[in-house]
Amino acid sequence: MKNLDKNIDGKSYANKLLKKIFPLSQEYFYKFNRKPSLAVILIGEDPASNVYVKNKIRTAEANNIKSIEIKLPTETSEKELLQKIISLNEEVEIDGILVQLPLPNHISEQNVINTINPDKDVDGFHPVNFGKLYMGVPNFVPCTPLGCLYMLKNELKHLSGKNAVIVGRSNIVGKPMASLLLSSDCTVTLTHSKTKYLKEHCKKADILIAAVGCPEMIDDTYVNENAIVIDVGINRVADPLQNKKSMLVGDINYKKVYNIVKKITPVPGGVGPMTIACLMHNTIKAAYKNKKYNFIDILEDST
Ligand code: NAD
Repeated sequence: MKNLDKNIDGKSYANKLLKKIFPLSQEYFYKFNRKPSLAVILIGEDPASNVYVKNKIRTAEANNIKSIEIKLPTETSEKELLQKIISLNEEVEIDGILVQLPLPNHISEQNVINTINPDKDVDGFHPVNFGKLYMGVPNFVPCTPLGCLYMLKNELKHLSGKNAVIVGRSNIVGKPMASLLLSSDCTVTLTHSKTKYLKEHCKKADILIAAVGCPEMIDDTYVNENAIVIDVGINRVADPLQNKKSMLVGDINYKKVYNIVKKITPVPGGVGPMTIACLMHNTIKAAYKNKKYNFIDILEDST
């Protein structure tokens, strides 16, 4: 029977990936007599960041990964934060370091990213990792675009020659996504807030990725019937039915776009769970790297 469900189920993809990660972390424990480890630094009281960190730590613990949560007050100076990172870089039993963004205004995000040892940079934001990705020799790849690529490879099998349009050019999503798709032989258009004729670009996409941060900005007038749509956006808006105080929506107007396109990721339940699964993947990779042990990248094999 023809499958009429157009949803790309991010939760199920994430579970599939975590099932491959679990035995690797167990094997690591037997080999090296300790769990792979992830240090997560959270500065301040931002409620969304708190939830993201909690989810990351919960998933790590459930997958045999030791998590070290470091909570620092908003007033922490940049110098203090950089010193903390330097000491984590030096700790041999710490494999991965993650600093939850955004940071308070008085701390430079770039200085923080630059200070993390590139071989512990499980977020893949360090300039060395960013450069390696663009050169086609990736080390650590940012988790969100990595998760999007994993789902696309599974949905489409062959990406070669596809027209991929990305809306949003941030360093954490848009740009690395463009690089990954380019390395997969797509023809990539990277659009942004100054792009003219955005709709026309989007309409030509076989693969459309939205990472803008504007609730439901992309509607049915931006897509064609063959498009595979990946919605990275996470926006909290007032619930129109007022069943709840607020609800999460993406950058895609899901209700309007669903009826037209071939496949689409929902929000929530699409990209979000894959981002966390890819963080676990990067942590295991960092742990094996720390022991100078050959790690066969499980994301290379998308089956
Ligand atoms: P960002 O603010 O750093 O970048 C937004 C980009 O969108 C910019 O490049 C800007 O040029 C572009 N843009 C803004 N308005 C536009 C417009 N009208 N037309 C075209 N382009 C426009 O955001 P980000 O960090 O890349 O995040 C984007 C969204 O993805 C946010 O909603 C964020 O919460 C979400 N996000 C989700 C995950 C996840 O795990 N699902 C991870 C990271 C980010």
